Amino acid sequence: MDTTVIQQDIAQADAVNALAEALGPKGLLRDHGDCDRYASDQSGLLGDRPVAVLRPASTEDVSRALAICSQYRIGVVPQGGRTGLSGGACSPQGAVVLSTERMSGVVEIDREAMTLTALAGTPLEAVQDAARAAGLDYPVDIGARGSATIGGTIATNAGGIRVLQHGMTRANVLGLEAVLADGSVVSRLGKTVKDNSGFDLKQLFIGSEGTLGVVTKAVLQLRRHVPQSALALFALPNHAAALACLAAARQRFGTRIRAFEGMWPDYWDFVCHETSLATAPIAGRHGFYLLIEVEAEAAETNEELEMFFAELFEQGLVEDGVLAKSLAEMQALWSVREAVGEVDDDFGHHVNFDIGVSPSDLGAFCDAADAVLATLPDALGVLKVGHVGDGNVHLLVAHNGSSAAEDQVEAAIYGLLREWQGAVTAEHGVGRIKSRWLGHCRSPEELALMRGLKAQMDPLGILNPSALFMPEDI
Ligand SMILES: Cc1cc2nc3c(=O)[nH]c(=O)nc-3n(C[C@H](O)[C@H](O)[C@H](O)COP(=O)(O)OP(=O)(O)OC[C@H]3O[C@@H](n4cnc5c(N)ncnc54)[C@H](O)[C@@H]3O)c2cc1C
Repeated sequence: MDTTVIQQDIAQADAVNALAEALGPKGLLRDHGDCDRYASDQSGLLGDRPVAVLRPASTEDVSRALAICSQYRIGVVPQGGRTGLSGGACSPQGAVVLSTERMSGVVEIDREAMTLTALAGTPLEAVQDAARAAGLDYPVDIGARGSATIGGTIATNAGGIRVLQHGMTRANVLGLEAVLADGSVVSRLGKTVKDNSGFDLKQLFIGSEGTLGVVTKAVLQLRRHVPQSALALFALPNHAAALACLAAARQRFGTRIRAFEGMWPDYWDFVCHETSLATAPIAGRHGFYLLIEVEAEAAETNEELEMFFAELFEQGLVEDGVLAKSLAEMQALWSVREAVGEVDDDFGHHVNFDIGVSPSDLGAFCDAADAVLATLPDALGVLKVGHVGDGNVHLLVAHNGSSAAEDQVEAAIYGLLREWQGAVTAEHGVGRIKSRWLGHCRSPEELALMRGLKAQMDPLGILNPSALFMPEDI
């Protein structure tokens, strides 16, 4: 018998006993059935059964747990709602999961400063509801709002449909508390809007996917709540017309544009004609479809959108359009766009890309992607839908189900992306699924700096050891 394996098993058992003592009976799960539930996120990647699931109830618990994990050199995977789509919350072999599920709740709402302080495990929707009840708004919004947590949205710098108006999560966090790998607590939970006193350390944790620290609490910037909005769907000749519409919409509506979402005909036709997910609200074939939502202070906004449509029509930028007249009609228009979260079963084996390029390059990049995919015999179809104003496209590429085909498709798209100087992920994060492609959008110097920060903040490499970097990199 290998004595190293026996020693590792003994150390692991000692670590779990020490963690159980530090966290109490509710704070640790080690039953296999319980642990299996925490192995994976929603990326489709299967994680390994964690050695134990840590369920700290406070920042102090997190601190104690990480100090013990450091002492025993046990990997720790921070976990929120496990809605991640990049495998970042999947457990690797021999690691423990640290779930924030017992650290949930809104601590304070400050109406004057327009801030909300929440514990990391609070679901995004609970934060949105609490803000709404105070007459304010937390504008980060994603489809997984019911389960995704504040800690998870911060760790992944979540985007969503309102980025054009209020930015990514990064732009909506004022203060942060995080625990480092050795258990030390870095806390800056003030509401100071202007702070030039050196490095903005919270930004290091935002988007770091649990590799630099465990987020335990955050102060979020709230916005004024505007209850009404007007929604229109436009059919256009092509993506270039959509960009012209974006420029015109910005001129006319400024920061009142709540959403500006685009659908290519491949996506539209598939969702409306080959699935039962949505019914086409506009007839005929068009080269592009745009969903525009504008904040409405008054009833005139519907008329404003109608006038906007008439002007664009005269210029040949739009071919057809429909304006939602009721909540039910708004939901029907949104259902076409939101069906992207449900096409998985209907579309068969596919790679789900989450590409970011300059907004002005998005149309040309998608044309180039179509062209390169047409040369691959095992690429069986593509659907394109995304956030036009942010230059972010969700590209779903069907293939024959073999790993060789998947590799070929990924190499083709990420190879193209390198030429366009884009980002391999605009929203979902690198996680475990995209770590091997990180070098396609980050220079060797950038990667060296990122690895240096990781080594400084987590010298033993215990925090989310399989995410973001390739294992041999750290
Ligand atoms: C239907 C659906 C729609 C989605 N839509 C969008 C979208 O529009 N835009 C978008 O950006 N994403 C979207 N996502 C992806 C996902 O919801 C987000 O990435 C979300 O931010 C993850 O939050 P979570 O709490 O579930 O985190 P998890 O999945 O649990 O974890 C995600 C990552 O964050 C780390 N992490 C979690 N909590 C902490 C913490 N407290 N401290 C440190 N690290 C932590 C994990 O280690 C992991 O690396 C969608 C997912 C689904 C299923």
